[in-house]
Order: sequence, then C-alpha cells, then structure tokens
Amino acid sequence: MPGRPSPVGEVAVVGAGVTGLFVAHELSRLGVDAVTVYERTGIAAGASGVQPGGIRQQWGTAVNCLLARESLATYRDAQARLEMRVDPGFRACGYLFLAHSGETRARLAANIALQNELGIASRIVEPDEAARLVPGLDPSSLAGAAWCAEDGYLDRPQAVLEALGERASVVRAGVVGLREEGAGWELAFADGTSTTAAKVVVAAGWESRALLPELPIEREARYLFLSEPIRERLLEPLVISPERHFAAKQLADGRVLASDLTAAGDPGLERDGWRRHVRECVETLLPTLEFVALPLLVEGFYDVTPDHQAILGEVRPGLWVAAGFSGHGFMLAPAVGRIIAEAIALGREDEALRVLDARRFAEARLLPEPQVV
Ligand SMILES: Cc1cc2nc3c(=O)[nH]c(=O)nc-3n(C[C@H](O)[C@H](O)[C@H](O)COP(=O)(O)OP(=O)(O)OC[C@H]3O[C@@H](n4cnc5c(N)ncnc54)[C@H](O)[C@@H]3O)c2cc1C
Repeated sequence: MPGRPSPVGEVAVVGAGVTGLFVAHELSRLGVDAVTVYERTGIAAGASGVQPGGIRQQWGTAVNCLLARESLATYRDAQARLEMRVDPGFRACGYLFLAHSGETRARLAANIALQNELGIASRIVEPDEAARLVPGLDPSSLAGAAWCAEDGYLDRPQAVLEALGERASVVRAGVVGLREEGAGWELAFADGTSTTAAKVVVAAGWESRALLPELPIEREARYLFLSEPIRERLLEPLVISPERHFAAKQLADGRVLASDLTAAGDPGLERDGWRRHVRECVETLLPTLEFVALPLLVEGFYDVTPDHQAILGEVRPGLWVAAGFSGHGFMLAPAVGRIIAEAIALGREDEALRVLDARRFAEARLLPEPQVV
C-alpha cells in the first residue's frame, strides 16, 4: 500500500546480504513501505557475495527441509517471482552425497526418510547408479550415495542480490550500537549520528554478535579452490564426500570448484596442504578432473552456531535477528525473509520461529543439523 503510513512503523534492517534483502523485499510485499537497510560496506559484502549459489533440500532436520523446499520454489522461478530483468538461471543439476561406509549410508538413509515424509524426492542410490548419474565418478570406494535430482545451483546467484538491492532502500552506514528508545530502537552509526526505528532486524552474518553479544555465533573461515573457466562440461551435479571432507562441482561459467571442507588455519601456510587433499580426492573419486588446475583460492566466512542452525526471531521487543546460518543461508533466505516479514507485519508465528529462537541455547533445546557441509 504505497503512500499509506504503515501500522508497523519504520523498520530498520542491519545488513544487505541475502537475508536482510529478502526480509526487506518481503516486508515491502506486505505493504510495509518504511523499510531501510543499513549496510556498512556494500550489497553482498559478506558471505552472500562469496557463495556460489548452491540450493539443496537434503537436510537432516524438518525445519531446514521445509525452509529449503520453499526457498527452492522461489529460486526455481526467480525471474518471475522477483520480477528480475536477468534470469539467475536455476539448474536442477542434483546433489550427490557419497557414503564410503555402511554407517554413513545409514545416516544418509535416515535423513532421506525424513525428507521423503516432507515431500522431497531424494533417494539412496547404489554405487553403479551413482556412477551413471555422475559420469567420471569412480564408484569403487562407495557403499552407496544420497541423491536428489531437484537440488541444484543458480547460474548467476549474484543477480538475485543485485535485483533485491536495487529495489530496497539501502543506506551506506555501519551500525555500532542498538539502544531501546521509547517504544522502538535507536541505531547508533559509526560516524556518530543515529536514527530511530519501531523495529530492527539484525541480519549482519557473523558480525551480528557485535550488536547482540548474547548470541552464540562464531566466525569460521571457508575456502573454495577454483579453476579457470573450462569450456568442456566435466561435472554437473555437486558431489560431496562428508567422510573425506571433499566437495566438487563445475559452475555455469565453466570454473571447477573444489573444496577441502576441513581447511582451517593460515591460507598462506596451509593452502598447499589443502590443495594436496583436494587432489587426492579428485584422483580417487573424480579422476575426470585430474588435469584441472585449481589456481584460485577464495575465502569466505560462515556464521556458525552450536547446533549449526540459524537463529530466527524476536530477541527483545521490536528487536529481531536472522543470522547464524552456518553455511546455508543463501538457500534458505527466501523462506526466512517471508517468515520474519510476516511475523513483524502480521504477527504470524511460523513453526521455524518456535524451534530456531535464540532462547534455545539457554533452555538446552538445541536442534543439531546433522547434514552440514
Ligand atoms: C565459501 C562459502 C560457500 C557457501 N556456499 C553456499 C551455498 O552454496 N549455498 C548456501 O545456501 N549458502 C552458502 N554459503 C553460506 C551463505 O553464503 C551465507 O549463509 C549467507 O550468504 C548469509 O547471508 P546473510 O545475509 O545472512 O549474511 P552476509 O552475507 O554475511 O551479510 C551480512 C551483511 O551485513 C553487513 N554488516 C555486518 N555488520 C554490520 C553493521 N554493524 N552495520 C551495517 N552492516 C553490517 C556486512 O557488510 C554484510 O554485507 C556459503 C558461504 C561461504 C563462505
């Protein structure tokens, strides 16, 4: 309802990553027209600008399955739903989780049972079928694999950020403090100025903790090796070996992405070791990538919580949080944006707000997500 004062009042969103921008987008869809996004550095300056656009429904908790399923529907049809000039190009290339032991196969099968109950078309595949789904995969070490053909990647994930950022009212300002002020909140900025808002949504990734110190969010570095763009298509699905801490995929621009999922430490000192680990995994699992050089190393930061689940909801009257996505915030953002916006504008409490609230840490209601990468 443009032009009409919103009964919600001014809403300030802190952080112009994918989460903050989807919250702003959904609020404006609900007719809340006084929404300002405060961003210290630039649109997608955090993890949102690094992630390569992977979207999967294969999770081990119902809340993530449902958030991902809803978000996938938005991304699949993003150009129409988000009224984008550029099609970000969702491709259902599939995600294949490898099991090298009976134990991992059983764990993946338990998650698949949950996914199937929730309408997600994932299934266990035998090693020979895994090799047919991923030409070039050596199945000799496999005890099976988990496959969902609907999971996939966006060709141009940054186009989503650009489209939402263009439409939102984004102000370049770093928020350094939040203080209760009457019925609302005062936001103090790095340059000494301040403003007030009736509601605030903190969506500042790992830096959310600087504004809400009570939140158990830790910064964790993650690294992706990338090749130069290759014209030949070598690997369509994302292949993940949780036991060998390895993942690989060829992106739409032709670059092969490969990751040592345990990489930690100083990249200057450790990168050769990480690259060696990736090479060993390539040789034994995906020999088709044997001659692909991986000269580029990209660093980004996860915002990790003790149960590897997001923290969503109102932490004090009028003060909301959507952070702690632990490495899967892009694929959940459309649903998270809707849920936070509906709670603020309509007072609607989604089940996700009940189970992913900030109080769960003090009340020992952790909900560990077993299928993290
Ligand atoms: C290497 C890597 C690969 C990944 N791959 C995937 C994937 O395939 N699929 C997936 O779903 N997820 C993936 N992720 C995770 C995903 O990128 C994040 O979960 C998601 O982008 C989080 O978005 P966000 O908006 O919550 O936070 P961010 O993108 O971190 O945005 C936070 C923003 O807040 C701003 N900010 C911080 N503090 C302040 C302040 N005080 N004042 C004003 N502004 C502030 C920052 O500048 C930043 O722009 C990956 C992450 C990494 C690092």
